[in-house]
Formats: sequence, structure tokens, C-alpha cells
Amino acid sequence: MALVNEQFLSLPGSYLFSEINRKVVEYKSLHTEASLIRMGIGDVTKPLVKAVTDAMHQAVNEMAAAETFRGYGPEQGYRFLTEKIIEHEFASKGINLSPDEVFVSDGCKSDMGNIGGLFSRDNVIAVTDPVYPVYVDTNVMEGRAGNLLESGQWSNIVYLPCTADNGFVPSLPEKPVDIIYLCFPNNPTGTTLTRTQLKKWVDFALNTGALILFDAAYEAFISEEDVPHSIYEIEGATQCAIEFRSFSKTAGFTGVRCGYTVVPKTVTAFSKTTGNAVLNGMWNRRQTTKFNGVSYITQRAAEAVYSSEGRKQCMENIAYYMENASIIREALKGIGFEVFGGINAPYIWFRTPGKEDSWHFFNRMLTEINVIGTPGVGFGPSGEGYIRLTAFGSKEDTQTAMKRFQSWNY
Ligand SMILES: *Cc1c(COP(=O)(O)O)cnc(C)c1O
Repeated sequence: MALVNEQFLSLPGSYLFSEINRKVVEYKSLHTEASLIRMGIGDVTKPLVKAVTDAMHQAVNEMAAAETFRGYGPEQGYRFLTEKIIEHEFASKGINLSPDEVFVSDGCKSDMGNIGGLFSRDNVIAVTDPVYPVYVDTNVMEGRAGNLLESGQWSNIVYLPCTADNGFVPSLPEKPVDIIYLCFPNNPTGTTLTRTQLKKWVDFALNTGALILFDAAYEAFISEEDVPHSIYEIEGATQCAIEFRSFSKTAGFTGVRCGYTVVPKTVTAFSKTTGNAVLNGMWNRRQTTKFNGVSYITQRAAEAVYSSEGRKQCMENIAYYMENASIIREALKGIGFEVFGGINAPYIWFRTPGKEDSWHFFNRMLTEINVIGTPGVGFGPSGEGYIRLTAFGSKEDTQTAMKRFQSWNY
């Protein structure tokens, strides 16, 4: 008889975005004339840039000719891509990595979910709160989370609150922890850490033997000087951190699927039988066993992001989204809201007026001004009383949505 992984069944059923979608569909069916503006889900809207689609077309032609056809490629990614990644993302910032420390994948979400397979069930996990749900849910699936408490938190996970009260800068954990998930610039709050603030975490990890899993999916949106793009800009991080990157938000690849994970050979975890185990080798073993690489066409597309045209075109799209972010920030501040993020990330996080609860305010936004946001509490208990808006829409929609806020008697 097949037995299920019981941990799956302990996950609460309804995923945040399905619940939002359900409410939107219900509202729409009763108000067919309503013009809804979606500022909820974090997906890009601009098409792929020309440099990327040109490279894809060319790669398709290569695949169509016997002399240039490619079958299975290296599971870790083609050198033409890993070398470009290293040159443009790391070497340019004085970070030395070798190509076999970069693993190309079909996106950062799968890597962040799969990395847990390298670690024992006995690790204590720490996450910031609010948090990208993937980190928590994948640890639930692997049996590291314990039981779901009434507060919405899991009994074995250490939560690091990030709220307006601490300026969205998490404090170091008071209990011992083994693995820490950090995402900066942050989804959902849109806030970041400065170099000095991130250094505290690297030092903590070095001093305690903890491992940092660093999600840098939004690094391309950073506009301020003092905000690190990579955790490896901090001294010692190549001893204690794995970094996850994605072309999804940077280059509009959410539907193309490409990301990469950096596992320096100097990062280890403890084994009761062999002492320190090198995670680079373990991840390589995992990928070569369970993953067969990203398509050639996709990797040529990702490579084109680093051509001079590609970089310019992608930066134009990012600038477009960040102009939306600034339109949202200014409009909401103008009507007296407490607004965070939107400077180094395409997310705006605001406190609901009068600290109204997130779902209640979400419902009123939906029904009174037909703007769809994301209730902050959906990302964790410390998100209660906040709403997330994304800057990934069109400028016209963003402006219309802000006019609705401005004339709303909320
Ligand atoms: C969008 C996003 C990613 C990217 O995921 P992909 O699987 O690469 O599309 C990763 N982390 C966070 C926090 C995100 O919001």
C-alpha cells in the first residue's frame, strides 16, 4: 500500500493567491461591469526584450539543423552562460567564483524548494516574517516545521519579525538556529538591508556555524548605493551562504524559466559520520541525479541578457516598473498612508489606515475602488495590518489605481 508523506497533509489547504483569486472571481461575477486593476500577484507584464527573443530565434534555428542541434546539455548549465553570469554579476563586483560554483536551473523557486533535500530534518530553520511562502512550506513538506499553531506559525520554525517597528530589519535570533532564509530586496515588503546590516548576519552565521540561504531575485531593482546586490559582497559570505538568483524579474523570464544558484565550494554543513560535507558537491550530485538541465534555447536567451543591447533593454523595463513604484509610493504617502519599499524593489508595502486587518482592507479595496492588492497577513502573522502592491502593471493602470485611492473616502 502506498503511504503518503504525512507532512503534506499538515499544510493548510488554501494558498494565498487562490484565495485572492476566488474572491476576485466572485466579485467579478456579481459586478461584470467593474474595471478591476490587478496589483496583487508578483508577475511581470512587459514582453521579453528584443535582444532575448533574437537569441531565442537563432537558437531555434540551430536546433533545427543537424550540424548545430543539441541534445542533453550539462545539468549544471552551459559554460557560455555560467561564464557570462560570473563576469557580469560577480567578477564586476570583485567576487571571485568559478563556473562550477554556479548552477543554472529552471528558476529560483525550484532551487529554493529543492535545497532542503541536502539537509537533515533536525535543523532549526529561521525565516523573516512576513515571508515568501516557499521557504516555510517546503520545510513543512520535509518535516522540519513541527505543528501549525493557532498564531499561524509553525512550532519548530524561528520567526524573525520585520515590521515598521524595527524598520524591517530583522534582529538576530535569540534561540540557536541552523539555517536562515534571507530575501533582500525583500518580497513582500520591498525593503532591503544595507551592507552593515547584512554583515551582522554573515558574522552571526560565521560565529555560530549557521548557513544562510540568500534569495537575491530582486537585486536588479536596487537603486541605492549602500545596498548589496549579492551576499558575497560581504566578507566571509562565501564560507556560509548559498545565493539564489533568477532571470524572472530581472529580464521578464517568469514564463521562460531560468535562474541559477551559487554554491561556493567553501560552504559546508556538518555530518555526524564524515565531519564537514562540501555542499557544492552535494548540490552537484542532487542536480545531476534529479535534474537534466535547462533548454539550450532558454540558456541562449539568458546569455543575451548580458549583451550590451540586452542589458540596456532589460534595464529600461526595470526603470519602467520602478517609475510605477514611485508613482504608487508618492500617491499613497500623499494621502497619509505609511508606505515602505518601492525604492530598491518593485513592491510597495503599506500599513492599512487605523491598522485595519489585512483581509478586511483587501476586501474594501476590491469592492470600493476595484483595486486588487495582496493582504500582508498572507505572508505571515507580522504582515497583519499591511497590504502589498506590485509595480509590475502598466503605467496607465498604476496611475488610474492611484487616482482611485486619492478620491476614496477610506
Ligand atoms: C519571483 C520570486 C522568485 C523567482 O522565482 P522563479 O522560480 O525564478 O520565477 C524568487 N524569490 C522570490 C522571493 C520571488 O518573489
